[in-house]
Amino acid sequence: MTNHLRNLGTQFSIPINADEHGYVGRECPIKECLGYFKITPGTGVKGPAPCHCPYCGHIGKSSTFFTPEQIEYAQSVVIRKVTDAIHKDLKSLEFEHKPSGMFGIGLSMKVQDRSPLPISHYRERQLETEVVCDNCTLRYAIYGVFGWCPDCGVHNSLQILSKNLELARKQLALATSADAELANHLIGDALENVVSAFDGFGREICAQKGADIRFQNIGVARLKVKEVFAFDFADTLNANDWNSACRVFQKRHLLAHKMGVIDDEYIQRTNDPGAVAGRKIRVGRDEVNDAIGIVEALGRRLFAGVIGSSS
Ligand SMILES: [Zn+2]
Ligand SMILES: [Zn+2]
Repeated sequence: MTNHLRNLGTQFSIPINADEHGYVGRECPIKECLGYFKITPGTGVKGPAPCHCPYCGHIGKSSTFFTPEQIEYAQSVVIRKVTDAIHKDLKSLEFEHKPSGMFGIGLSMKVQDRSPLPISHYRERQLETEVVCDNCTLRYAIYGVFGWCPDCGVHNSLQILSKNLELARKQLALATSADAELANHLIGDALENVVSAFDGFGREICAQKGADIRFQNIGVARLKVKEVFAFDFADTLNANDWNSACRVFQKRHLLAHKMGVIDDEYIQRTNDPGAVAGRKIRVGRDEVNDAIGIVEALGRRLFAGVIGSSS
């Protein structure tokens, strides 16, 4: 009965279980990144697939993405199994020979009971954004907001943009049933959210390609993108739509920086016939609604031009 150790074999398979929210932690193996994220096994791409780091885009075998805590845990489980087996083997070798005769020496071997070696338990970390990939349905969690889907490798920026635009649409819908003052506030807020969502989105995808471009002034952004990426992200828009997008972005500038009061710069930059310097700007629900559609189209075009239609 001394085969406990031998029976363990030389290969161990230690399951890494999901936490109470269904997540398993992962860590990018690239030294400069070591980004931590979580995925939900069973959602996303079916069958074996390589893992994509959401932060740096590194693609590698899923087995190279274990966290140090998971490896330490697995090692401690193996060490416990081995030491337990050794203990049992030694225990089965216990003997006790009584001394016999006048000069006999008694020999014995007793294996002391001991507390088993501890298992190195771990907890997965809290992350900032949970995403359900709209391409492969993987549920994952990351720091920050933007990232590549760990399963299918699609960048989530377009999905995040759509989600923010959807929220702005909801604000506009609320404005229809609010009193005038609150309605104005909701519409202005929706506009600010549309512009900052587009700015965050545009900056992120340009940063993925090493370019630093801001999108709060879409006229300037259009020129910069042409210069850096050699395409026009507004080439699918007619002049009318482009002009009204520019005007609404300028209105956002007034709301954010001038308490909504029209200045000369606004009059110069936009073709707004009703605008008078020193008066408050009016932002209509319909023009913000239209702007959302336009921004969505610009976003898709920008994404296709900078990142490519698929990864
Ligand atoms: Zn990485
Ligand atoms: Zn995906």
